[in-house]
Amino acid sequence: EPVIGVLALQGGVAEHLAALERCGARAVPVRRVEELDAVDGIVLPGGESTTMTRLLDTVELYEPLRARLAEGLPAYGSCAGMIMLASSVEDAGTAGVRPLGALDVVVRRNAFGRQVDSFETELDFQGIDGPVRAVFIRAPWVDKIGEDVSVLATVPGGLDAATTPDATEHDGLAGRIVAVQQGAVLATAFHPELVEGDERVHRCFVRIVRGR
Ligand code: GLN
Repeated sequence: EPVIGVLALQGGVAEHLAALERCGARAVPVRRVEELDAVDGIVLPGGESTTMTRLLDTVELYEPLRARLAEGLPAYGSCAGMIMLASSVEDAGTAGVRPLGALDVVVRRNAFGRQVDSFETELDFQGIDGPVRAVFIRAPWVDKIGEDVSVLATVPGGLDAATTPDATEHDGLAGRIVAVQQGAVLATAFHPELVEGDERVHRCFVRIVRGR
């Protein structure tokens, strides 16, 4: 079975470890270079991309991780993890985010603004049968994609008014890109690890790692 690391400096680490284990992978936290060296794939969790950048520097993992990603290490980033995988980030200058450049996309941090910064919806996900419940927490979206990047999911129109009382506000956001893949790199603006009993997105990533 593949060994999949979860970058464990900050953020939703335990949820990703549990979801990966349920998919039959061996999931291990990664805090040091020796741990990074031992994995076949890595998950970058949600959290705060500014803090994650700073902590990667502090533990001297930034450059080793960037280098392994450049060599083709399969990676999956959710939310702040998506921001960290991007090639460029809007707002990065003021926020101190230094993305790792594994994914040819421009990402906008905190893209959903104040009113709709956190919400849930169901969306279609390329390669997954049936709707996927998506939890957005001060999420980014993808503003631009390079030609090798596929869009896997966008924000749907007519969001579920029961879970999103301000659904009319979201409707202007329909079509925004919130999940992408480029080769062995997968990213979602939302948090599948927070939806209990549905590991389909993690299964996609485990399949990518197995395919390498
Ligand atoms: N807003 C956070 C950031 O900019 C991401 C939030 C999250 O990961 N849930 O890094």
